[in-house]
Amino acid sequence: MKKQISAIKGTKDILPEEARKWQAAESVAKRVFELYGYREIRTPVFEPTELFQKGTGETSDIVIKEMYTFKDKAGRSLTLRPEYTPSVVRSIIENRLYLQPEPLRFYYIGPMFRYDKPQKGRYRQFHQADIEVFGEEDAAVDAEIVEMADYLLRELKVSGTENLVNSVGCNNCRPSYIKDLRRKAKEAREGLCPDCQRKIDTNPLRIFDCKLEACREASQSFPQITDYLCQECKGHFQRFCNYLEIYGIKYRIEPRLVRGIDYYTKTTFEIISSRLGAQDAILGGGRYDDMMKVFGGPDICGIGFAMGMERLLSVVPSEKKKEKFVYLAFLGEEAKKRGMNLVRILRREQIECLVEYKERSLKSQMSRANKLGADWVLIIGEEEVRKERYQLKNMASGEQKEAAQEEILEIMRKSF
Ligand SMILES: [Zn+2]
Ligand SMILES: [Zn+2]
Repeated sequence: MKKQISAIKGTKDILPEEARKWQAAESVAKRVFELYGYREIRTPVFEPTELFQKGTGETSDIVIKEMYTFKDKAGRSLTLRPEYTPSVVRSIIENRLYLQPEPLRFYYIGPMFRYDKPQKGRYRQFHQADIEVFGEEDAAVDAEIVEMADYLLRELKVSGTENLVNSVGCNNCRPSYIKDLRRKAKEAREGLCPDCQRKIDTNPLRIFDCKLEACREASQSFPQITDYLCQECKGHFQRFCNYLEIYGIKYRIEPRLVRGIDYYTKTTFEIISSRLGAQDAILGGGRYDDMMKVFGGPDICGIGFAMGMERLLSVVPSEKKKEKFVYLAFLGEEAKKRGMNLVRILRREQIECLVEYKERSLKSQMSRANKLGADWVLIIGEEEVRKERYQLKNMASGEQKEAAQEEILEIMRKSF
């Protein structure tokens, strides 16, 4: 016996029935994004490692622990993208998209890779729907993005969600907050996990990302960023909340919402689901006004969100939608040839047909059609070939009639 080859740990197959659900959700997402003026942009799955070190940030958990980094044959360090934003920023700069008249609004749905501990609902190859807007400073766009995300979830019939918003300030106001936060965190050092103890020096904001109860508890007494915002950041945040109210979007201010990525400035937000437990965020994002500059591009601000498709699909209600199709049952070579031709014509009419070429008795073909849930069976034997009239059986009613090609087409056009 040969050894069976299995999928890599942390990856999984999306089988046809589940893939249907993915396709449906993806097409709703694409439709909604396009409604708001976003256009798809596809970038490579792997990029130079430094893109994420610089973009996602040296102190983020993603870069420290979770990147799929490897050397290629030429000795270059490559990384499978752990998130999307740095790739888009690179592409905009490289292709000078900012010089074109089109608005810089992009979306993408596809796989991301993180070398995370595989656990329930968490994969090393996972999927995200991602949107980004560049060059819009106004807090109205921050609100529009949250409104779009909220609308998308309504369209997908996801219920029980809550919108959390915050501001993480800017380079002017954050340093004094970090200073106070670091001092407070040092006082609480004993109660923190080793990981968070390390974060006190590297980036104390990251302590808020820790999922451990003890660390969450300890961080309750830490100062809140919202008390440290400068005039500009405070104004932006107030306008953001005000515009959300104009849209009729309910939200809760969550001052500990800092998100696990280094580049955020001002607005951050998350949409959580009461049905997801501790890993409750379906979608999260924020502003990254300095990123383009950091990458040597023009000084253009940006904002966006990423939505985990696996988590999203776990809260999207399933809709059993069955495709209608015709099953061809034939007896003998001549009947097969005639059937092949008829089926070709039906398919040109956008009617789904299934032909199984394995030789079977008529009885067993009928039972296959029944088992597979065919709506119609087109039956062709020697007699039918000679008469150029064929048997058409409606599987729901059990009714069977003899009809010529044109008549069959007519019935099918009405039925599909
Ligand atoms: Zn500020
Ligand atoms: Zn911790």
